[in-house]
Amino acid sequence: MKITIVFPARALEVTRASISVMPPSLTLLAALTPGEHEVSLVDMFCGDEVDYESDADVVAITVRTVLATVAYEIADKFLKKGKKVVLGGPHVFAMPEEAKGHATSVAIGEAEPLWPVILEDAEKDTLKDFYVCGPYPTAELAGSVHHEKERPSLDGLPMLRRDLLPRDRYFMDSVFTTRGCPNHCRFCPVTDIFGGRIRHRPIDEVVAEVATLGKRYFNVDDSVFGHPQMTDRPQEDVYYLDLYKELAGLAPKRHWTGAGGLSAVNYKNGRKILELAAESGLSAIAAGLESISGEGQRQSGAWRKLHYTSADTFDITQMKDGIKTIQSLGIEILGFFVVGWDDDTLDTYRRTLDFCDETNIIPFIFTLTPIPGSQVYKEYLEQGRLHDDVPWDHYGDHVIYDHPTMSATAMTEANAEVMTEGYSMGRILKRTFSTLRQRPSLDLAMTSFFTQIGLRKAYRQVYGDVLRSMR
Ligand code: SF4
Repeated sequence: MKITIVFPARALEVTRASISVMPPSLTLLAALTPGEHEVSLVDMFCGDEVDYESDADVVAITVRTVLATVAYEIADKFLKKGKKVVLGGPHVFAMPEEAKGHATSVAIGEAEPLWPVILEDAEKDTLKDFYVCGPYPTAELAGSVHHEKERPSLDGLPMLRRDLLPRDRYFMDSVFTTRGCPNHCRFCPVTDIFGGRIRHRPIDEVVAEVATLGKRYFNVDDSVFGHPQMTDRPQEDVYYLDLYKELAGLAPKRHWTGAGGLSAVNYKNGRKILELAAESGLSAIAAGLESISGEGQRQSGAWRKLHYTSADTFDITQMKDGIKTIQSLGIEILGFFVVGWDDDTLDTYRRTLDFCDETNIIPFIFTLTPIPGSQVYKEYLEQGRLHDDVPWDHYGDHVIYDHPTMSATAMTEANAEVMTEGYSMGRILKRTFSTLRQRPSLDLAMTSFFTQIGLRKAYRQVYGDVLRSMR
């Protein structure tokens, strides 16, 4: 069969994209496709266009909430052409029935055990309505269901099919080493989707894969320093210590980026993991710090991932110290914050930017978006606070819930103001020079500078568009 796999985007994402990362969802699904089939990939983020006249037998589309509208439009067009359409991705995990309205089949959960079965059924023309992997309330699904109850092991996975995309158009390759997250942050559906138990890929397989990558890559894991709050932490520590020792020995050294918190600085093995990660080429981390207040930590549930024993023990000085320690290893920090918890005020946006200025971290300050599948989404829906009539493409840019004290317009304006100021040329230069002092590499300094310039352009456009649409 001929199979097309689509990663949807709108014109908006294409113009906003500043740093392109090869999308692992496309290349993984292609890698899981048995060799007798012919696969083509469409990465709309990089400007690929969908060919609706293609002779594909099966079209698979990844659905993320903000892009669900465009994904469904593409799916509907292919259905009209008589194609078999399979939808998967994080959005369908929370909205399977909605997705089924735009698909022949919906794949819920991890692809490894499902995709080969889907293709077999597609060939025999016996596709079921839903294919589900992992614990899931399948009895609630209206239609025929194939259910793989166990989550897949990550041993022996095929290498991602990076050869199917023009690699030189991507600034970074992508790789993953683990799946699962024990933290259950209240705004994030990842723990339900991938489970609370961490599964690791064998180190030799990760290292062999990284050895095939270009100069830069992005590790798409939720935490590249492990999860120190886990009960089997010693085993988790050994994994990361061994992994980064091996990666540090690779020649040539690749620079890499990933997501990680500050908790590793708080214990001996964690500090060793940080040092080895830096030696292996870690140049920047996206740190989900989430809130500068104990109350924000409590309402977001982020205190768990920051390794506090409870939200009450949150200590901003400890957060600053953690940032300094990581920066002293030459690792740049992109700080992600969510503003809009019930106790937050308009001043919280400003104080969060002040915190980023003081600590020299690159600010990513966003208003809370209750994403389908998260606890916050369910709670706000039950409380009647969620604007559940807004189109999916408003998720991310618009305020889509009622805050007890702030209006949507005031929140959007305050967010726009700090994200505009946060990327003033003076601040960009200050952060770039601060990182250059910690890590004397002109190449990395230039990457940091131009990434921030790209973000500056993107955020000005995002908030300009949103504010215009609200007036
Ligand atoms: S935000 Fe990060 S740490 Fe929290 S549940 Fe999601 S993936 Fe886990």
